[in-house]
Amino acid sequence: MVIASCISTARKYSKSSEENYKITAFLVRNGKPFSIATNLGWKHAEARCIDQASSEKIKNSIMYVIRITKEGLGIAKPCKKCQGLIKDTTIKKVYYTTNDNTLETWEFHETD
Ligand SMILES: [Zn+2]
Repeated sequence: MVIASCISTARKYSKSSEENYKITAFLVRNGKPFSIATNLGWKHAEARCIDQASSEKIKNSIMYVIRITKEGLGIAKPCKKCQGLIKDTTIKKVYYTTNDNTLETWEFHETD
């Protein structure tokens, strides 16, 4: 499952991250991540992930946003600014982790 491998990658990144919020964003196409980015300073993971991906690949891709906390998973709903960025792209959907510490994800465009 894509989400499980993304969570495992996000855990690895979170260990080396010194940020207060440990968030990793993935752009996935055909079940394979082609862009992975963490938040860095004022730059949000979603924005960095979009910036480093080619627009051709972004088309119909799916974004996963994962926040790792000491307890497990945390709420990683994209902020207003990132929501705007995402809506300006051709990303199909966005799933993000929630506070319930499970692998459950929510569909961004439906809950917005
Ligand atoms: Zn943001």
